[in-house]
Amino acid sequence: MNDGHDVLVIGAGPAGATAAGLLAQAGHSVLVLEKDEFPRFHIGESLLPAGLPVLERLGVDPAKDTFVYKAGAEFVCEESGRRGVFVFRESLPGCARHAWHVDRARFDKALRDRAVALGAEIRHGATVVDAGANGDSVFVKTREATFRGRYLIDASGQSRLLGRRAGTLKPYDRFGHCSVFTHYEGLGDAAVEEIGPTTNNIRIMLRPEGWGWIIPLPDRALSVGIVGRTKMTPEDLERGLLESPMVKRLTAGSRRLATHVVGNFSYRNTVPSGARFTSIGDAACFLDPVFSSGVTLALRGAEAVADKLSAALGNGAEADPALLHDHDAGMDRAYRTFAALIERFYHTNFAETMFLGPVDDQPLRRGVMSVLAGDVWREGNPFQEMLLAAKRKERAADAGRSGHAN
Ligand SMILES: Cc1cc2nc3c(=O)[nH]c(=O)nc-3n(C[C@H](O)[C@H](O)[C@H](O)COP(=O)(O)OP(=O)(O)OC[C@H]3O[C@@H](n4cnc5c(N)ncnc54)[C@H](O)[C@@H]3O)c2cc1C
Repeated sequence: MNDGHDVLVIGAGPAGATAAGLLAQAGHSVLVLEKDEFPRFHIGESLLPAGLPVLERLGVDPAKDTFVYKAGAEFVCEESGRRGVFVFRESLPGCARHAWHVDRARFDKALRDRAVALGAEIRHGATVVDAGANGDSVFVKTREATFRGRYLIDASGQSRLLGRRAGTLKPYDRFGHCSVFTHYEGLGDAAVEEIGPTTNNIRIMLRPEGWGWIIPLPDRALSVGIVGRTKMTPEDLERGLLESPMVKRLTAGSRRLATHVVGNFSYRNTVPSGARFTSIGDAACFLDPVFSSGVTLALRGAEAVADKLSAALGNGAEADPALLHDHDAGMDRAYRTFAALIERFYHTNFAETMFLGPVDDQPLRRGVMSVLAGDVWREGNPFQEMLLAAKRKERAADAGRSGHAN
């Protein structure tokens, strides 16, 4: 038995490392248990402007070997030849005007290293097999040891340990569930020029099986993948996206790396927090990644939890089951906003009219851009309010249906 930490955190990804670093910086003792050694591969390479203040606060340096400047997003339909470019500087005021694409192995290690520098203890090779809250303490079990503390944060990503244990996960049935992707190294000059070395927009391709991405990475690398609503295989990538003329052109002469399949996603933990515990990042919610929201929501959610929990640990209020109710409501607003947009992306002609069509309505464009920037906690974005109002109506209509996270 190992006692004595204020906070036990499961997982050292962006959510866990951020929460651990900020809590340690505030003077609390934090132990993070992480199953993998870092650096380790992870998908999820395109960030949004709304996450940048968290990186600045942590003191993570946007180093050239890890970060690529991202001006915005380009939506492309190769079949029709239509495309639309949305840049973050078009968004409503109050949010950063750009974002980054990152090599996740290096990015996650940089966040982990900052958490350690700020005072968190991180143990790698420590796979958590059970965890929970027991009255006046919390516990985390690995195969080798049991740890006790005052508060438990589940940042285990798609392992979503607490949600699975409690049976509180609900799927988003109508979103993408599976992805298959690969990387290329050594892009040629023509590809770098076509991508636009000063803009590096993510390209989101509207495709029959779902959607595809093209993300420029440091050192002339490219991430290419597709997300679909059914099970996907490497053959789907070969016969689908990699046959695209644009992908062929951009990757000509470069080296292809391994193919990965990641599935079983789009879900939400309907009870993310309670007495002495919370879930953050993908352990709380995983939305279809079409709008690159995952890391940003993980960073922002972790930061907000760290601030609230830090104050509560200071005055002994961390056992209050309602401690994070306001925070959960704030995250709920963010999840519902993106969920409403994703719903429209898959099930209406919104993507064709909004992302591929000429949109001359400047206030609307700015509102859309603010949501795409992840600036979803602000007031006064009529587009976001419209999305949320429509969502409330759909929820009311769906009230009879159960087992649905939307
Ligand atoms: C195909 C795809 C594309 C994506 N694209 C984007 C994108 O472009 N932009 C974006 O922002 N997001 C994207 N995402 C989402 C993004 O990857 C996640 O939202 C993000 O990684 C969440 O961070 P996290 O810290 O919550 O989880 P993770 O980054 O997954 O970290 C969780 C950590 O917990 C550890 N862990 C798990 N189980 C245990 C255990 N039992 N014991 C100990 N440790 C454990 C893991 O090893 C891991 O290090 C994408 C996801 C997918 C699947």
